[in-house]
Amino acid sequence: MEVSFSREVGMLRRGNGETFEGEGILAITKGLLEAGVAYVGGYQGAPVSHLLDVLVQAKDYLAELGVHVEACSNEASAAAMLGASIHYPLRGAVTWKSIVGTNVAADALSNLASPGVTGGALIIVGEDYGEGASVIQERTLAFALKSTLVLVDPRPDLAHMVRFVEEAFGLSEASNMPAILQLRIRACHVRGRFATRDNVAPAVSALRPLAEPAAFDYTRLSHPPVTFRHEKLKADERLPAARRRIVERALNEVFEGARDDLGIVVLGGLHNSLVRALAAFGLADAFGAPALPIFVLNVVHPLVPEEIVAFCRGKRAVLVVEEGQPEFVEQEILAILARAGVDTAIEGKGPLPMAGEYTVEALARGLSAFLARHAPELDRSGADGWLASVDARRAEVTKALGDPLPPRPPNFCIGCPERPVFAAMKLAKQTIGPIHVAADIGCHSFATFEPFSQGHSILGYGMSLASRAGVSPAMGKRVIAVMGDGGFWHNGVVTGVQSALFNGDDAVLLILKNGYTSATGTQEIISTPDEEVKAAAADKTRSLVHDNQVIERMLEGMGVRWLRTVDSYRVDEMRATVEEAFTTDFAGLKVIVAEGECQLERQRRVKPWRAGLERERRRHVRVKYGVDEDVCSGDHSCIRLSGCPTLSVKDSGDPLKVDPVATVLDGCVGCGLCGENAHAATLCPSFYRAEVIRHPNWRDRALAAVRGAFGRMLRGGRA
Ligand code: SF4
Ligand code: SF4
Repeated sequence: MEVSFSREVGMLRRGNGETFEGEGILAITKGLLEAGVAYVGGYQGAPVSHLLDVLVQAKDYLAELGVHVEACSNEASAAAMLGASIHYPLRGAVTWKSIVGTNVAADALSNLASPGVTGGALIIVGEDYGEGASVIQERTLAFALKSTLVLVDPRPDLAHMVRFVEEAFGLSEASNMPAILQLRIRACHVRGRFATRDNVAPAVSALRPLAEPAAFDYTRLSHPPVTFRHEKLKADERLPAARRRIVERALNEVFEGARDDLGIVVLGGLHNSLVRALAAFGLADAFGAPALPIFVLNVVHPLVPEEIVAFCRGKRAVLVVEEGQPEFVEQEILAILARAGVDTAIEGKGPLPMAGEYTVEALARGLSAFLARHAPELDRSGADGWLASVDARRAEVTKALGDPLPPRPPNFCIGCPERPVFAAMKLAKQTIGPIHVAADIGCHSFATFEPFSQGHSILGYGMSLASRAGVSPAMGKRVIAVMGDGGFWHNGVVTGVQSALFNGDDAVLLILKNGYTSATGTQEIISTPDEEVKAAAADKTRSLVHDNQVIERMLEGMGVRWLRTVDSYRVDEMRATVEEAFTTDFAGLKVIVAEGECQLERQRRVKPWRAGLERERRRHVRVKYGVDEDVCSGDHSCIRLSGCPTLSVKDSGDPLKVDPVATVLDGCVGCGLCGENAHAATLCPSFYRAEVIRHPNWRDRALAAVRGAFGRMLRGGRA
């Protein structure tokens, strides 16, 4: 990966008496080292990618402490890594994006939770829920409930979050339950500071290894008949032990308010938004001190019935603030109070919406309804006025535009190698007709948006080929599955390729080999170009993914007999190859590898290289495409075929041309797609390719002089 986290790595070294400043997710990273973690693993994904990215770049420092870091091939392998804490007194932490990552890890998590752990086992999940999310809207709490895992959900405050890393390890060790530390998107990106402590080198590590393995202990296996005993241990010993620890360490917090007849129970991660909403009613000050008592659940599972009863008893009504559905916490609180004979009215879903992120606005609307019912004497005019102004502004915008704003879906980067592949597929359909496209997770899922609109289903990361297995036999023509190299290694090679080969499936797989898991932050994989190759490349603008052939060798080794490798930017060749895959007599698995290095990574290499040449005033050439506006017919078929953000429109300046003409903005990286598309789709000949030469040499100048003279001659001597 070419993004440098050297500043963050430097902050990991801070010790007693120093201050850490930065994002929540990096504070958690530091918290792990202060808590004496022995091993860390995971699979990247927003909003927790930085945790692993930083630790991978801090490997040298971690080796000094004896902390092992593993970039795992998927979340299942990360969860399995926690098996080290079953027998050994090792604190281990893994991280991934939830809910999708937790789904992948579920098998290993169940098998970990059943025997339980000796050393603290911590799973740091990025709870990708709400308006900034990129995955299915489900909650991790369901996994904690079904597998009997601790679920920690700390208030988003850096010092508090760091404390809860240590507390979660302690809770895991006291209860033998693995613990999930849940961080919402806002918690990962909240900024702040905290006083650091010295990092703790683990007692057992690569520097101080165990002399002998643990003695054989059948009860540590997740296998019948001991699994029956494990279930009883969960109920009879582990959950009670966790509850005792939660009380002893005062992990949940009560913020007292001026009145005691009403109250709010909130999951820790929602606390900041709640106090902002309360402030709109004048029920919290600028520092978050509330007028209504708030019970903050920093530990969401298990709940401690005595704490719930103590908070709710004597109150007329309590609002439960729990985002998403089903309302697990609200239901459990209702059951706890019913068993204790407490008749406090519990509200939650009803005033608050069942689905969707609890933004400050959503919370304010819920609070307004709750207060109207239970405290009508309170003046709500300030908050209600603010909410009314929000509604009025929305109505004004809609009225001004006539219609809602046009959607602005995410798009491939400028010059992305995946864009030409979907342009080629679009063109191939002119010959082979409509086709079923099994899509996947990755940057290529942007092709499901305009102008490509390709992809019938997405069943998970690396699952496209597997997801067409039921479609192929029911379809009168072949089906194509699209997969990135990230998805291929995540599990596509096993769930898709192995299965299709074993079953002799007649299918087409298109692998977008860009060299990185680009969508999660361009992390490196086994098929990433080697650093030596990058350093040695004289022309840094060249795509380097061809230099790593591990995917192709793997496919050949597995028995793929129809394998084509095509440069992603060769639109005509790609179109012909897709057409061949759909029409060949070969009835087995056909694999097309589209090779083109992730343009984002390529530009990270190219830009500093160009800047260096510029500083040294050395010759370098930048390729740019442009449109001759006199030739452009204004039908914009080039835009419909490409979708590149730098391919735009402008007024023609010609009174006889009503439609705007196409134009290429300055961001063009000269990927060549405009020229390829014009050729492959026989578009109007308005595109030109220009080479912008900086610090030209005498040959460039001589050539320019000759060309200039020739041009003037053709123009009859005019300049
Ligand atoms: S990150 Fe790379 S692969 Fe993803 S859209 Fe950008 S250039 Fe394409
Ligand atoms: S050549 Fe065309 S597609 Fe490529 S970056 Fe430039 S404008 Fe975009």
